[in-house]
Amino acid sequence: MFSNTVEFKETFLKRIEMVCGKSFSESSARDHYQTLGTMISEFVSKDWIATNERHLAAKGKQVYYLSIEYLLGKLLRQNLINLGVEETVQAGLKDLGIDLGELEEFEADAGLGNGGLGRLAACFLDSLASLNLPGHGHGIRYKHGLFEQKIVDGYQVELPEQWLKNGNVWEIRKTDGSIKIPFWGKVESKTENGRLVFNHLNAETVTAVPHDMPVIGYQSKTINTLRLWNAEPSQFPLDVDILKYKRETEMISEFLYPDDTHDEGKILRLKQQYFLVSASIQSILKTYRKQHSSLNQLHEHICIHINDTHPVLAIPELMRILLDDEGFDWEQAWHITKHTISYTNHTTLSEALEKWPIHIFQPLLPRIYMIVEEINERFCHELWEQTPGDWERIKGLAIIADNFVKMAHLAIVGSFSVNGVAKLHTEILKKREMNQFYQLFPEKFNNKTNGIAYRRWLLKANPKLSSLITESIGPAWTHKATELSQLLSYQKDSSFLEQLLKIKSENKQTLANIIFDKTGTAVDHSAIFDVQVKRLHAYKRQLLNVLHIMYLYNRIKSDANYPVVPRVFIFGAKASPGYYYAKKIIKLINSVAEKVNNDPVIGDKMKVIFLENYRVSLAEKIFPAADVSEQISTASKEASGTGNMKFMINGALTVGTLDGANIEIRELVGDSNIFTFGLTAEEVLHYYQHGGYQSDEYYHHDYRIRQAVDQLVNGFFPGAYNEFEPIFDSLLQENDQYFVLKDFASYVDTQHSIGEAFTDRTRWQQMSLNNIAQAGYFSSDRTIQEYADDIWKVKPIK
Ligand SMILES: *Cc1c(COP(=O)(O)O)cnc(C)c1O
Repeated sequence: MFSNTVEFKETFLKRIEMVCGKSFSESSARDHYQTLGTMISEFVSKDWIATNERHLAAKGKQVYYLSIEYLLGKLLRQNLINLGVEETVQAGLKDLGIDLGELEEFEADAGLGNGGLGRLAACFLDSLASLNLPGHGHGIRYKHGLFEQKIVDGYQVELPEQWLKNGNVWEIRKTDGSIKIPFWGKVESKTENGRLVFNHLNAETVTAVPHDMPVIGYQSKTINTLRLWNAEPSQFPLDVDILKYKRETEMISEFLYPDDTHDEGKILRLKQQYFLVSASIQSILKTYRKQHSSLNQLHEHICIHINDTHPVLAIPELMRILLDDEGFDWEQAWHITKHTISYTNHTTLSEALEKWPIHIFQPLLPRIYMIVEEINERFCHELWEQTPGDWERIKGLAIIADNFVKMAHLAIVGSFSVNGVAKLHTEILKKREMNQFYQLFPEKFNNKTNGIAYRRWLLKANPKLSSLITESIGPAWTHKATELSQLLSYQKDSSFLEQLLKIKSENKQTLANIIFDKTGTAVDHSAIFDVQVKRLHAYKRQLLNVLHIMYLYNRIKSDANYPVVPRVFIFGAKASPGYYYAKKIIKLINSVAEKVNNDPVIGDKMKVIFLENYRVSLAEKIFPAADVSEQISTASKEASGTGNMKFMINGALTVGTLDGANIEIRELVGDSNIFTFGLTAEEVLHYYQHGGYQSDEYYHHDYRIRQAVDQLVNGFFPGAYNEFEPIFDSLLQENDQYFVLKDFASYVDTQHSIGEAFTDRTRWQQMSLNNIAQAGYFSSDRTIQEYADDIWKVKPIK
């Protein structure tokens, strides 16, 4: 299509006329974005088709990744980088007076996810294609992704996100791949030729229309597919209210549920889940039948992976097809299903474990419910045979109990692999949360520590650091992340350390400009940039960070000569719209910012910044500019975290609890290159089990705590009289369920030592270098290679 700047320009100018119907001189920047996107899509189409043909022809195994979320962000520049044409395109555009960076602004973030889980799915797609693995994603094409956040008077306000407003250049609508999905109605059974057959009568049918997006591997010829399903009305039936039917149908792919840690139990959510699963499985099997005459050996040729329990209905849906459409008997169907599905658990928070009331489940999905019931009965029967009469045990393990369907139990029973997402998380699953299941099926449980698409989070997000790395150790690290460890030989190289410092300063200046643009607050780029960006949740303890800021403020106010190392505290976080407490914390951060940033006694010693609408594209500007990475969840609560890895690879030092993957970061960099503090997971879980923590003792005995906590309710924040009472109450009346006050003193001490460490610039740069050099382990290439080898048994197809 184009192999040099001249050819690129020629094609680009021609394409503008065809894509936009305008001459170059009349065209706008948006036209240029649209044209470039179209050109790149055309550029990859041959390889995309060729990849599909290779996959069809190959005898090897294929994997399908089912996820209710994909937090993709922007795709243009990453696609250019992966295709190896970034420089050509950038230079060609420059000749035409066009800035590639400005064009990128016209691309909307594809925000089809809430946070870590959705971003993980996006990183996995990148790695699958980059490793030439035959692995395709299936998801929902939400018309509105995660809401857009505005901060008004310190409060979060949510606006509907509109990523499809100007179309999506990357997608191809494939009407001929449409699938019909039945809801409601009733199931009739009768005997035909001595066999029980089931008919789903009076169902309301929805059409799922696939929209395919290319997933472009890094310098690989592989273009995999992300297939996003859109819900549309099927042929309009005559006897229903057509407008109501159309509305209800389209609602299925209208909104992403904006909560990642709470099971809402809403009927529309269950509809979304079955819609995704049924469309995906039917479409997977359609492709499968082109290659194989029967589904006998399905599990030897494909693997279907479910990202958390949201797609767990893949299990009864596959059973339904094998039993009702293919005529297998139960034992055969169950054998195939159990060996086809693998499952990742993402959380042990009880409020996040999905369970569906039967009165919602059964009428919406009558045939699927029957199958789940049968799976449950057979499973409970097996349990009974093992321990007759032990009702307690059977009830604890059952898939259906107390009028609820427990989705995690279904996932464990109906799959061949159950993995956690970091060592500690997997241990907690095995030893505590899912211990009963672990005893039943020890062979199913395994760990796959999360990773990140480091070509986005380092190569793309931090071009200056990437150049320095390539100049120093060559380009191999962009294929093999562990090559970054070669950087360790620069630990004593003062000129290298200088350059590292210079790059960090420049990245901080860039972020300082963004901060000034967005908030009007000027921050000094020589201060410590101390950053906590992630979803807002009690367990992530943004409150601990805030209380420390309030303490520092009070300390400086009581003694203007108190020596502090200047700091800029930066926050970014969306709260689920219905999460009252989380929204209070956002207001509190903004109230503290107001107070601190306008106090002349404080001046440049401290600034507090809340950046609104935290999302992938903003994150890419933040990580390269961070000095300190806040990973301060209550130990045992954060399954892995991936933000921690993005900070690390950009040279930020972690201040963190011994939770999730922080533990593995510490193992890699050693104790002297990370700042850990606070209760361990063991200790936290011990308190939950046996009691013994009294938060008010810490309030009464530590003046620093008492002063800051009192300020929540004593008029310290003007105009916010009763505003923060719920936070005050959570700490004292409700006995501080997240151990904020318990960990406060140890956090303050650790923060103090961070300040001191920062003043020894050489030592700090060495620590930073160590983090970058050891971060290769957290490439999602490594994670995906482990899934491919240990779980899916898939091999590259080139
Ligand atoms: C990485 C990422 C997350 C996950 O961050 P954690 O700190 O692991 O919770 C959430 N949102 C966005 C936009 C991200 O890029």
